[in-house]
Amino acid sequence: MVTTAVAAGTMKVAQVSSPGADFQIVEREIPKPALGHVRIKVQACGVCHSDALTKEGAWPGIQYPRVPGHEVAGVIDELGAGVSVWEIGQRVGVGWHGGQDGTCLSCRRGDFRNCRNLKISGISYDGGYQQYMVAPVEALVAIPESLTDVEAAPLLCAGITTFNALRHSGALPGDLVAVQGVGGLGHLGIQFASKSGYEVAAVGRGSENAALAKRLGASVYIDSKATNAAEELQRLGGAQVILATAPSSKAMSELFDGLGPNGKLMVIGADFDPIEVTPIQLISGSRSIQGWSSGTPVDAEDTLRFAELTGVRPMIETYPLEKAAVAYARMISGDAQFRVVLTM
Ligand SMILES: [Zn+2]
Ligand SMILES: [Zn+2]
Repeated sequence: MVTTAVAAGTMKVAQVSSPGADFQIVEREIPKPALGHVRIKVQACGVCHSDALTKEGAWPGIQYPRVPGHEVAGVIDELGAGVSVWEIGQRVGVGWHGGQDGTCLSCRRGDFRNCRNLKISGISYDGGYQQYMVAPVEALVAIPESLTDVEAAPLLCAGITTFNALRHSGALPGDLVAVQGVGGLGHLGIQFASKSGYEVAAVGRGSENAALAKRLGASVYIDSKATNAAEELQRLGGAQVILATAPSSKAMSELFDGLGPNGKLMVIGADFDPIEVTPIQLISGSRSIQGWSSGTPVDAEDTLRFAELTGVRPMIETYPLEKAAVAYARMISGDAQFRVVLTM
């Protein structure tokens, strides 16, 4: 729903005019979709920690002013030339995977997720912090009817990242999977892990999220402030996988010894500090560390379908587009419960 009046043919946009600048709410002309693109009437857009890359200019080559946003849910309202499969009125989303070049070595291998020239919504082109956005068809995700826009939006980055990392982690149903962090990623990771048939141990700092973690599907909650979490995991037999969601390399390093034989630390929480693990820790038990980033639009559709089937839903706080600065500050504070979503 459009909450603020704008002149005909124009729209409201929350943009960043230069690295580190505050959000500006400006009016722009509604764009036309080019060849192979569609225009989306945006209904909701999640505010992700990675939007700081755009806000603070931490990603090389961003052209400003730039509109962040890669958790977009809306409706196609215009088709560019050459678009045949998608229809006006269709509900679609755009996540982190904003399009591939189709020509690099990874793409030629069919590994679009690791495209060398991956386009990212809100970084390579204007994203979802606006009333209308233009996206290439390679980026589009079909949204099932049963999910609302505000539910679907966070699943397109936080959701797919946790779900896709878990389903590629090698853990089998019944295995012990630890989810480190009960936050924006972790509260989804616990749900996806539980619904995937794993025995879930949630690891958080402090006791305040213990009851919530259990409601979300964890069978055990480990307070890493009060106990040695790695030892606690060993007491449970050792984790097959630790899904590390909280962006703290220190916490990940401390938890590594909670892995059982052939266990894997699956890293999705982005931190710039090194994870410290000795070769001996890796060698004993043949344990490993792997990183994982998001997935393709079809992986996103799998995520939405799995959420639809199993009832996995993000916990959200919503803010109107005009309050983008407040919403972003709330996300950065780490106090949001748990994903912040803008509505248009
Ligand atoms: Zn994200
Ligand atoms: Zn490529």
